[in-house]
Amino acid sequence: MKLSKLKVDMDYFKIDEKLYQKLKPTPLKNPKLVSFNKKACDLINLDYKECETQEFLDFLNGTKTLENSQPYAMVYAGHQFGYFVPQLGDGRAINLGNINSWHLQTKGSGPTKYSRRGDGRAVLRSSIREYIISEAMYALDIPTTRALAIIDSDTYAHREWEKESCSIVLRMSSSWIRIGTFEFFANTENSKENVTKLADYVIEQNYPHLKEVEGKYEKMFYSLVDKTASMLARWQVYGFMHGVMNTDNFSMAGVTIDYGPFAFMDYFDKNCICNHTDGEGRYSYNNQPYVARWNLIVLANALKEICDESKLLEYMKTFLPQHENVYLKLMNERLGLIASKSGDSNLDLILELLGALETSKMDYNVFFHRLNSIKSFDDLSYITDLCVFRDPIEKWFDSYKKVCEIQENSFSKRNEIMKKVNPKYIIKNYMLQEAIELAHTGDYSLVNDLLEIAQNPYEEHSKYERYSNPTPMKFANIKLSCSS
Ligand code: AMP
Ligand code: MG
Repeated sequence: MKLSKLKVDMDYFKIDEKLYQKLKPTPLKNPKLVSFNKKACDLINLDYKECETQEFLDFLNGTKTLENSQPYAMVYAGHQFGYFVPQLGDGRAINLGNINSWHLQTKGSGPTKYSRRGDGRAVLRSSIREYIISEAMYALDIPTTRALAIIDSDTYAHREWEKESCSIVLRMSSSWIRIGTFEFFANTENSKENVTKLADYVIEQNYPHLKEVEGKYEKMFYSLVDKTASMLARWQVYGFMHGVMNTDNFSMAGVTIDYGPFAFMDYFDKNCICNHTDGEGRYSYNNQPYVARWNLIVLANALKEICDESKLLEYMKTFLPQHENVYLKLMNERLGLIASKSGDSNLDLILELLGALETSKMDYNVFFHRLNSIKSFDDLSYITDLCVFRDPIEKWFDSYKKVCEIQENSFSKRNEIMKKVNPKYIIKNYMLQEAIELAHTGDYSLVNDLLEIAQNPYEEHSKYERYSNPTPMKFANIKLSCSS
């Protein structure tokens, strides 16, 4: 379909106008296309050819509006690093409406009523990171927002070190409502009425099967708990760290949103922290499931006027067991095993492996990919050559061998299971950094190549074989800033 034929729905306008701001985006100077994503075009039925037109640039830049679109910014609140901030909001993102249940939002489109003292901009490096990683997450079956395209420009913003060019990334989500949106609504004068309206909106958008069901608000919460438990398990299984798990960055649709200083862990470190402002490691790798549980309890409190809060808190007891079930099932698959076959979930084997990976300083995801490829236990050098210390991994293989014998599965059977969950390529921060540095010279080719790798991580990309190797130590497990 042509861009001019796309028509959006503006259903958020059912909510009281005091809870959002209609506004016009502030355009960037000389917008230029960095990349567009065909898979995201398919989601909204947009012809690929349209993305190479001036009209498309104008659309991303906010100077061309889609039919029926009335751009707006949403208010929300949130707990940031554990402290309640009564008013946040879309300080640099502008919502354009939804198509096929995808809510379109441009990030970096200028100041809004909720910008506080920010400039409303997103620098190129942060847009590239979000654009590529959301597609990488999707390809790994981790619930996430998606991204349609990025533009760069001749408008500049000041960040930590220097002037950087401003960009806009168009991102799409099944919802942009956050736990923090409920926290804000629960703090308004007509809180009960406002929270009810917001919950009805979320149910209509994301849980339509609950619309006519008794106890629908409680059930919306239970569904979100289930989805979040499963999403967190997938983060943990692939070593993904979000970096800023504040309640304003937690989606009511149970998808990963707002990518900032995230990382796919390089070598395994259970206490890994990827955000350099997170001195105490509140959002460290190991803490993530507990923080997600904490965030959901904050939501339970924000819903107390329309739900029986004690029921919600009772249901929260299922969060960690649900998380563990999904985690163990997938970790078994990454080892080519079946969780229930040997009568237990192989928890001890998995914990022993994590300890061995940590002490041997082995690249976490590369380990699993190499495990797909070994054909005999007699020669483990394809894996152990990558370890700084070999002993722990070799010892772990003795335990693994025993479980493989109990499960009576062959190398080829295990490979069948593993090849679906152990990709050859995981997008690491050093790869994104290479693409960013090249993009700063005006060459966007690596952004497009990384997009291709991110979307097809199980396939061969012969030009980029080096990306299937461990992260070079000097770039491994580096902390990034919030403006990333
Ligand atoms: P984040 O840590 O990216 O989730 O951002 C936290 C809050 O700060 C959100 O409400 C953002 O909209 C806002 N924010 C972040 N960067 C900027 C910026 N450059 N200009 C305006 N608001 C911003
Ligand atoms: Mg945010």
